[in-house]
Amino acid sequence: MDFALTAEQKQIKEMVSEFVDEEVKPRAAEIDETDEFPADLVAEMGELGLMGMPFPEEYGGAGLDYHSYAIGLEEISRGSGGLGTIVAAHTSLAGNMLYEFGNEDQKQTYLTPLNEGTDIGAFALSEPGAGSDVPAMETTAKKDGDEYVVDGGKLWISNGSVADTVVVFAKTDPDAGNKGISSFVVRPDEDDGFVVEGTEHKLGDKGCPTAELRFDDMRVPEDRLLGDEGDGFVQALKTLNGGRITIAARSIGIARAALDDAVKYAGEREQFDQPIGDFQAIKHKLADMDTKVQAATLLMHKAADLKMRDETFIKEAAQAKLYASEISREVANEGIQIHGGYGYTKDFAAERYYRDAKLNEIYEGTSEILRNTIGDWLQK
Ligand SMILES: Cc1cc2nc3c(=O)[nH]c(=O)nc-3n(C[C@H](O)[C@H](O)[C@H](O)COP(=O)(O)OP(=O)(O)OC[C@H]3O[C@@H](n4cnc5c(N)ncnc54)[C@H](O)[C@@H]3O)c2cc1C
Repeated sequence: MDFALTAEQKQIKEMVSEFVDEEVKPRAAEIDETDEFPADLVAEMGELGLMGMPFPEEYGGAGLDYHSYAIGLEEISRGSGGLGTIVAAHTSLAGNMLYEFGNEDQKQTYLTPLNEGTDIGAFALSEPGAGSDVPAMETTAKKDGDEYVVDGGKLWISNGSVADTVVVFAKTDPDAGNKGISSFVVRPDEDDGFVVEGTEHKLGDKGCPTAELRFDDMRVPEDRLLGDEGDGFVQALKTLNGGRITIAARSIGIARAALDDAVKYAGEREQFDQPIGDFQAIKHKLADMDTKVQAATLLMHKAADLKMRDETFIKEAAQAKLYASEISREVANEGIQIHGGYGYTKDFAAERYYRDAKLNEIYEGTSEILRNTIGDWLQK
C-alpha cells in the first residue's frame, strides 16, 4: 500500500496549484460577486490541458489517469468552487458520456473540442419533476425519418447556457421506464428549438451558470444518439459514479481553502493579548478540520484508485462523495466560527466557502440517495 503521489501526480498538483494561486484565487471574489462565467480563465485552462484531463491525447485530452484528474479538480476548487463545477460538469459528465459511450466519429467531432477547451460541455439529466427520481423524466425523443424530435425541458443544468455541446437524456420509449431512456448530443447553435429559459440565482457556486432549458420540437440528427436506444439510464448512472469522485475532490478543495484561511487567521488575530490560535478551543477546531480533510482525501483516493484499476467502485465513490461533501460544509462552518464576526461578512472568503460547500451535498446524488446506495450495497 502506497500513500505517496506518483511523480506525475505530484507534477499535476504543483502545476495546477501554481495556476490557481496566480490566476484563480485573485479572481475568486470577483467571480463570486458578479456571477459571470469566467470565459477567459476557462480558455486559459483549455490551453493548459485542464479541460480534458482524463481523456487520451488522440482526442485532444491531457491523457492523465483519473486519480491525477481528481487531484487537479481539487486544486481548481481550492481556488473557486464555481470553477470546480464548470470543469466537473464539462469533463466528468459531458466529456465522460462522449468518451465512454460515443462512437469514433462522435468522439472526434464533439469530444476533441471539449478537451481542447474550445467547446464547453453540459449534462442535462434533471427535470423539474425528476431529480433523484431520474426515470420520472418527461422529456421525449420521437424518431422521425433520420432525425429525433425532442420535446420537454431540463432544470439545474451546470454550464447549460454557455455550452456548445449538451448531452441530453430523453425517453425514446415512454412506457419502458428506465429502459426507455436514451442520450443525445445536442448542439444549441445548430439545433432549432433549443431554448435557454434562464439561469438560477444561487446561494453559491457562482460563475457556473445553472440553466433551465426547453426543447420545442427540437430536431436532432439520428447520428447524435449515444450508444443504442434505451441505454441512457445505465450510461447516466455509470457517469455519475465517476463524477462523484470529482465532487469529493471539489469538496476537499473547498475544505482545504477554508482550513488554510482559518489557520492563517488564527495566527494573526489577537484577543486577550494572544493569538486566538493559542487558545485550545481554536487549536482543537483546526485539528478536527484537518483530520476530516485528511480522512476525506483517503476515501477519494481509494475510490479513484479502484476506478483506475477498472474495479467496481460504486460504494467507494458514494462514500467518498458523501463524507467529503459533509465534512466540507462542517469545515467551512468552523472556518466562519474561527473568523468570528468577520467570518460572517464578505471581507473574508470564509462565508463563500460555506456557500460553495453546501452544494456538494445536493448534486450528483444527494446525501440521502448516497446513503441509500451504500446501504443497498451492504445488503446485497
Ligand atoms: C447548482 C446545481 C447544479 C446542478 N447541476 C446539474 C447538472 O449539471 N445536470 C443535471 O442533470 N442536474 C444538475 N443538478 C440537479 C441535481 O442533481 C438535483 O438537484 C439532485 O439530484 C436532487 O434532485 P431534486 O433537486 O429534484 O431534489 P429531490 O429529488 O426532490 O429531493 C428532495 C429531498 O428529498 C430527498 N429524497 C428524494 N428521494 C429520496 C429517497 N428515495 N430516499 C431518501 N430521500 C430522498 C433528497 O435527498 C432531498 O433531500 C444540479 C443542481 C444544483 C442545485
